[in-house]
Amino acid sequence: MTTTATPPAPTSNDAAVTPQKVGFVHLGCPKNLVDTENMLGLLEADGHQIVADEADADVVLVNTCSFIEKAQQESVDVLSNLAEQGKKLVIAGCLAQKFQGELLDLFPEADAVVGINDVPDIAKIMRRTQHGERVLATQQDPTYVLRDDTIRKHVTLGAWAYLKIAEGCDYKCSFCIIPSMRGTFRSRSPQNIIDNAKQLVERGVKEVILVGQDTTSYGKDMDSSLPKLLQRLNDEVDGLEWIRFMYAYPNLVSDELLETIDGCDKIVKYLDCPLQHTHPEMLKRMRRPVMDHVAFAQRVRDKVRNVKLRTAFITGFPGETEEHFQHLKRSIEEAKWDRLGIFEYSDVDTAHSQTLDGKVTKAVITQRRKELMAIQQPIAYAHNQAMVGTVVPVMIDEMNAYGQMTGRSQWDAPEVDNSVLVKTSETNAALPGEIVNVRITHAGPYDVKGELA
Ligand code: SF4
Repeated sequence: MTTTATPPAPTSNDAAVTPQKVGFVHLGCPKNLVDTENMLGLLEADGHQIVADEADADVVLVNTCSFIEKAQQESVDVLSNLAEQGKKLVIAGCLAQKFQGELLDLFPEADAVVGINDVPDIAKIMRRTQHGERVLATQQDPTYVLRDDTIRKHVTLGAWAYLKIAEGCDYKCSFCIIPSMRGTFRSRSPQNIIDNAKQLVERGVKEVILVGQDTTSYGKDMDSSLPKLLQRLNDEVDGLEWIRFMYAYPNLVSDELLETIDGCDKIVKYLDCPLQHTHPEMLKRMRRPVMDHVAFAQRVRDKVRNVKLRTAFITGFPGETEEHFQHLKRSIEEAKWDRLGIFEYSDVDTAHSQTLDGKVTKAVITQRRKELMAIQQPIAYAHNQAMVGTVVPVMIDEMNAYGQMTGRSQWDAPEVDNSVLVKTSETNAALPGEIVNVRITHAGPYDVKGELA
């Protein structure tokens, strides 16, 4: 775990801090991970010791997720488990933002519940709990954006790091409650992001992964845009080797954006754009843009040389008929996505889709996910098979339990895509954080193997 940026000077009215051992549990998405690292950085700067093992902790910061009910349940299970161990708790994240004071009632062990807007005040909140207060620090309609003096205590290993470029979302996809927890869309200032990227490079990061609920809306609330930001990161941040962005919104993938990806040497030739479904009736019920996905995939492949496309679909959305599902199957067969995630629909309270008719049974939802994965597997295998015999740059992430090096090509985001198993020898080794040329020798549907070229 390492830290970036300088801590604020303590103010005169700050009561003395009793340094505590602070453990942490991070749940949910990369955007929430940046908040976890931010809160740990602020607590360390205020004199607390961050410990990796909750067993050693005096208090545990749990940064929760509340995206779907399964995630809500996981957050509650983690909190209950820690409470049973007698741990003092500080509950942050989307579950805190959604349920607020109810969590103080549900968990007597909780010293504080911290909403999205109150992340920057985590140190002050911790001080108040040290003086016996149970703190409910939550506000409706958060407006918080990572500040210029953001401190991060990094908990991810390797030479890559997430870089949050915006908060919130202005869309109203009917299955999603994120806007109700994270608020409306707001961008970080471009200069703040550039400075943060430089800090990350100083820390040994070679790949930054830009995240936000919708990265393609970046800059719409200020005189900037995602293509402009990408161009600046490419031109101004020395030492950065790979620039990736996740979560593009389909109808915001402009020609300018594609030309920027194609034209900038540090931007990986990779586009992540969750589409959720392909049938127009389903997309309308999801409140998502209706478009021809096969044509979309071809347009991206025509504009960006050597690009690989990642998308995601939901099976079993309320009202999905066999005809809608057959349409989705055909589209996947035609578009031949390079990377594909398939998620099962599930109701989440307060989401509009929960009120819709035509609910699909769990058995059918799961069966449809399996059918789509069965269609995608030979497609994924063929894509990887085409890499055999070629030499590709690979970012080495770590050594696995068998002493082998694992890494990723530019076409693979951490935690969601393929990995590359790299054969090394005593005379020919590679270290985590290095980008090395690898000759691909074997391909599987979801991973490939190779040797140092
Ligand atoms: S784009 Fe849709 S799915 Fe994504 S965060 Fe916004 S509302 Fe949710």
